[in-house]
Amino acid sequence: MSAVRKASVVGAAGRMGEHVRAALAESDTLAFGGALEAPGHPAIGSELEGGVEITGDANQAFAGCAVAIDFTVPAATLANLAVAADLGTAYVTGTTGFTPTQQAQLEALAARIPVLHAPNFSVAVNVLAWLTREASRRLRDYDAEILELHHKAKRDAPSGTALRLAEAIAEGRDQKLADHLVLERAGEIGARPDDAIGVQTLRGGDNTGEHWVHFIGTGERVELAHRSHTRAHFARGAARAAAWLAGREPGLYRIEQVLGLE
Ligand code: NAD
Repeated sequence: MSAVRKASVVGAAGRMGEHVRAALAESDTLAFGGALEAPGHPAIGSELEGGVEITGDANQAFAGCAVAIDFTVPAATLANLAVAADLGTAYVTGTTGFTPTQQAQLEALAARIPVLHAPNFSVAVNVLAWLTREASRRLRDYDAEILELHHKAKRDAPSGTALRLAEAIAEGRDQKLADHLVLERAGEIGARPDDAIGVQTLRGGDNTGEHWVHFIGTGERVELAHRSHTRAHFARGAARAAAWLAGREPGLYRIEQVLGLE
């Protein structure tokens, strides 16, 4: 059996951070070994499972850890990823809402350490993306529309997952998503362009995430849907990805590689 490696949790007191710590407690291959929070966060100094103390210092949080698992905000992810790159700590992040410039910065840091960034760590959502790509390829003339619903505290819109599903539609049609993505409709919008890929957003309550992909034809419609009931499955997927990533060569890896969906 391979040795158990230590994993550091970035955003350890956040909604996802708590679930990642629980997932590490269940893991046979990873152990909870470090906890990082935003400098000045009230939880800094508190002791967590296994005597791990929450710190605001990334160097301290990553010391002795083979991999970090991050669910925070884009600016924090990039700052902490830069520290991980200096230390040689592999980095898994599920943070969403990166601008194209921030995405390029993340990719540049992946030249120095193994990095895996996924907008959704759920196995089922990644299978949904695979199904969406296959359906899009075969339903070329149908109008593709995505709808997503998330809790009201979510900062970015549309969700990273909705954009990933939109990407899957574009991939199935050998198109560039940016040429066809429609995020807003209001006023005199005219007829829908045939190749549009529409994404609409709903926000409310404490919903952990629902996504619908519609292929709308003349006289019929296909609907693919995924509903999350908890955040635990995202965290388990991230822990599985972290165990897979630790010890690999530097580079940017994809969740599809972890799940055998490529
Ligand atoms: P949250 O606000 O509950 O938690 C974020 C945590 O990050 C907070 O505790 C915050 O204090 C901490 N943080 C902020 N700056 C930091 C810094 N510089 N260093 C360390 N910690 C810092 O948010 P959440 O609901 O846990 O979501 C976090 C991110 O994860 C969002 O982008 C969300 O969209 C994404 N998310 C992704 C998936 C997925 O499967 N990929 C699933 C759920 C959520």
